[in-house]
Amino acid sequence: MYLKEIKMTFIQPCTADAERIRFKAKFSTDISEILPYINADVKDAIYNNKIQSLTIRKEFRIITIYGTNLAVSKAVNESEAYEIMDLVKELVNNTYERKDEIEPLYEMREKPSTLEVYKYLPKLNCKKCGQATCLAFASKLLSGTQNIRSCRPIYEEDNKENLEEIKYMLQMMGYE
Ligand code: SF4
Repeated sequence: MYLKEIKMTFIQPCTADAERIRFKAKFSTDISEILPYINADVKDAIYNNKIQSLTIRKEFRIITIYGTNLAVSKAVNESEAYEIMDLVKELVNNTYERKDEIEPLYEMREKPSTLEVYKYLPKLNCKKCGQATCLAFASKLLSGTQNIRSCRPIYEEDNKENLEEIKYMLQMMGYE
């Protein structure tokens, strides 16, 4: 079997929704080579070739697969976490077995727009992040050249839900 084991390494409640959990898990094999094949097969996946990540949204759950590990947000509970790990293992092994029949796809099909990210920023244009405007910061976040931690106002209590939305969009892009 190509991917033999996925082992959970971290689990805790989601920050904005304590009813749900997020978790991380580690693969027994580096599966980076398979990600472009899964990208070709799973039509709504978001593949980021630069950082070798592939994200799949399953209703409200966000599943990001990296070469050697997995990060999942908004899972319902621990038993669902194990089901998701089994699903990922099956997806990887099934794709590996069929890889000679699949044309790998290295491009990202779609990603959140700058305006979608901007919508959730504080829109103060205060320049504390080092950018002239929040819009410029949103664009840098999407290109992976800025970290959300540089925007201090988004960490204020009133912006908690907006921060989570931005984090989910960044996770969709494969950024941790
Ligand atoms: S620190 Fe945040 S609120 Fe201030 S300009 Fe940057 S993105 Fe906008």
